[in-house]
Amino acid sequence: MIQKFKTPKITQEPVIKLYLSGEDRVIELALEEYLAGTVAAEMPAGFGPEALKAQAVCARTYAVRKIIEGRSYPRGAHLSDDINSCQAYIGAEEFARRNPSNYRELWSKIEKAVETTRGIIMVYENQPIDALYHSTCGGKTESALATTGRDIPYLRSVECNYCQASRYYESQQVFSPQDLKNLIKTSPNNKISLKITSRTEAGRVFRLELNGQSLYAETFRRSLGLPSTWWSLSLDNGSLIVNSRGYGHGLGLCQYGAGGMAAAKKDYKQILQHYYQQIEVLSLNY
Ligand SMILES: [Zn+2]
Repeated sequence: MIQKFKTPKITQEPVIKLYLSGEDRVIELALEEYLAGTVAAEMPAGFGPEALKAQAVCARTYAVRKIIEGRSYPRGAHLSDDINSCQAYIGAEEFARRNPSNYRELWSKIEKAVETTRGIIMVYENQPIDALYHSTCGGKTESALATTGRDIPYLRSVECNYCQASRYYESQQVFSPQDLKNLIKTSPNNKISLKITSRTEAGRVFRLELNGQSLYAETFRRSLGLPSTWWSLSLDNGSLIVNSRGYGHGLGLCQYGAGGMAAAKKDYKQILQHYYQQIEVLSLNY
């Protein structure tokens, strides 16, 4: 039996306004219906049911926190489908278009993951947590302290031995001198110098020096479109070779890790409690 989480702001299933960034318009839909579209967009539906349930609880917690905070998106929306500021969403039609051969089977699997966790969220100190998640950690998640300077007790670095199935567990990116010229404004004739100057405790790069100039690894990652900030770098005849681990910021739930844990017969609560520490799993009152 899951205990109740009571908030005066949510006494029944919320109807949310969702901003569709590509169309610059708002749609209204029930929270649980929105969550099916979010799970569909955020996690491969072929993952085990317990991974999909863990994803549904993350997405619900993330959404509920935004609703309670009263943060607003363009056109007064509660939430947005823009992944840079919120979480992804696709409607059933778009999902069917992307999965023409087995749409019905996959969609009902997603709906079931949402229904069986209806109203369930993660709470820390009586507040819905900031349920960050990412594709693939590459072996170890990241702590909030190392990336933001703020210690968040439920966002600490943990080992993950479950995300090897991701093609981004380890990957390599190669940039020619011309690529580098376009992406980081170096001259193809000038030699570039690169030095990693600090790493987080978990192993991701925090700061580096590019031609003597210090910058955040995250800035460098964005400039080059790298999958994460966990890399080793080498230069070969003016080309840059990046050996990367993981995909995404590394905070909170590792989605491929959740897939691996589900395959190893862990249930969704065990998955969530692995990636988020000291949390309670509670149910909203609807
Ligand atoms: Zn992982």
